[in-house]
Amino acid sequence: MQEKGTISIHTENIFPIIKKFLYSDHEIFLRELVSNAVDATQKLKRLSSLGQVKGDVGDLRVEIAFDEAKKTITISDNGIGMTAEEIKKYINQIAFSGATEFMEKFKEANDANEIIGRFGLGFYSAFMVADRVDIETLSYQEGADPARWTCDGSTEFELSEGSLTERGTEITLHINADSEEFLSKYRLQEILDKYCRFLPVPIIFGTKTEEEPDGEDEEGKPKYKSVELPNVINDTNPIWTKSPIDLKDEDYLEFYKQLYPFSEEPLFWIHLNVDYPFNLTGVLYFPKVKNEFDFQRNKIKLYSRQVFITDEVKDIVPEFLMLLHGVIDSPDIPLNVSRSFLQADSNVKKINTYITKKVADKLAELFKNDRAGYEEKWPDIGLFVKYGIVSDEKFYEKAKDFVLLTNTEKKNFTLTEYKDKVSGEQTDKDDRLTYLYTTDPQKQDAFIQSAIKKGYDVLVLNTPIDNHFISALEQKLEKTSLKRVDSDVADKLIKKDDNPPHILTEEQSKQVKDIFDKAINRPAYKVELESLNPEELPVTVTMDEFMRRMKEMAQMGGGMGFYGSMPDNYKVVINANHKLISKILEAAEDGQTQLAKQAFDLALLAQGLLTGAELTDFVNRSINLI
Ligand code: ADP
Repeated sequence: MQEKGTISIHTENIFPIIKKFLYSDHEIFLRELVSNAVDATQKLKRLSSLGQVKGDVGDLRVEIAFDEAKKTITISDNGIGMTAEEIKKYINQIAFSGATEFMEKFKEANDANEIIGRFGLGFYSAFMVADRVDIETLSYQEGADPARWTCDGSTEFELSEGSLTERGTEITLHINADSEEFLSKYRLQEILDKYCRFLPVPIIFGTKTEEEPDGEDEEGKPKYKSVELPNVINDTNPIWTKSPIDLKDEDYLEFYKQLYPFSEEPLFWIHLNVDYPFNLTGVLYFPKVKNEFDFQRNKIKLYSRQVFITDEVKDIVPEFLMLLHGVIDSPDIPLNVSRSFLQADSNVKKINTYITKKVADKLAELFKNDRAGYEEKWPDIGLFVKYGIVSDEKFYEKAKDFVLLTNTEKKNFTLTEYKDKVSGEQTDKDDRLTYLYTTDPQKQDAFIQSAIKKGYDVLVLNTPIDNHFISALEQKLEKTSLKRVDSDVADKLIKKDDNPPHILTEEQSKQVKDIFDKAINRPAYKVELESLNPEELPVTVTMDEFMRRMKEMAQMGGGMGFYGSMPDNYKVVINANHKLISKILEAAEDGQTQLAKQAFDLALLAQGLLTGAELTDFVNRSINLI
């Protein structure tokens, strides 16, 4: 039997296209061929379990070998094999929706993955790296004849009698001159590690043992070539394929180490396992995020039936969980489609929702079962939770019960607990709640102390996400606003009707304002007199909450050009009721300026705003005063 023919696509020049346009991802030829080999063994297993294969199927395996001298890479399996008829059907009639369609569509495709998947080019990806491909195969079917197929990369193929005596398929690639990088143990190992590490069938890689002696040694005894024994390079049963009941914490930690050898132990993990309405398994880990600037994205690996696909899981995993680590395996994610198509896919949407729900449920469970442990992990978890609240309404609905607010005493509260704690003292005359917060407990200490003295509580919100978190809270909590503790003097932070009366006359007030205007003499500082508690500081420098937020947003690239270009503007609040102010009024004219300057500088000093020449000036003036 000898047959020649033309691969049934109408366009003659498909192979040059495969070679040219799929350049960037050449290495995936190995993934495609090994996947086909694995599929062949899995199909045999299934047929056997249905009683359609005679006898024992033996140990199923896939072998990869290469020969540097002959410039070949061979992928063999002992799966179902193919008859000549099947080769004609499956290999010759490429599973295109039509060659014409391909010719039209390939122009839109962005990378090899897209084309290969969309047009069922799995096997043909071999021609990205090979001049010639040979298939030797023997079907599992009783009485089947071995078949041999060879093709030199044109659309001509040759089909003839094969030489295999055992069931399976052996595919030999004659590597082309441009692809010789693949004829290296190191390079092949690297690709296998990436794509094949968790395939469900043993993958054997290495050179075969030399059985014939290779010359003689000095004593005349036969010498054998020292060759590396082929070994299994994959874990056929990774933990995500197992049932959580059969796994201990150590197993999860061990697997984590395997995936991320240089990472610290994770905080906890979630085992995903769902059959309906889509199929998805996986394990997601919450890493320790010590340093927020050290975020490592793309740490989740996407698999499809244990074949590694990509570590770009954008659109599949919700944005706020991109910082998680681990593995997701789903045959229901369309792998080879463009991004916009992926986003619109209903399974992908469902998967996204499912993952969000699982994460929220896990956090709720941790919080409920072990509040102390949860609080301990909060500095790490908090980031995810806040990110989730900011970006996902559904997540907020669950997270509102376990998101924690931490105050300056390092005590943690849920939203309800905190509301109960502060509503007595921090409700203003219009019945609105004000939560006070600091972004820098060190720098804003003077303000924090004043607030605490008034019986207020101060939250610490000092991570990069907190800006957004604050806005989200204000939108979600009823009649509640958040104010940074230094945005006003303590008496004014929460407006109540209990301000003490002004003790200065209108004329005295004007006089004080003039003295300070003259002493400060800087346009960015606007002097205002307020009637405050005599115990409060005589002079306080504040920056309005609204203005500060606008500026911060502009700095983060929020597009607020106008606010971004505004200089900092501070309010200098003079406590009209403070003894020092009366004293300044009574002093001689040049003494007035000196004292005002001194009081103003002290206010700046308390906020860390006094630096450079002004600080030196202040020190000198203080010495003189003493
Ligand atoms: P796909 O795998 O997407 O169907 P391929 O072009 O990779 O497309 O393969 C085409 C077909 O050739 C497969 O569906 C299978 O029937 C057959 N085939 C490929 N490789 C093997 C193999 N190693 N053993 C048995 N059959 C194979």
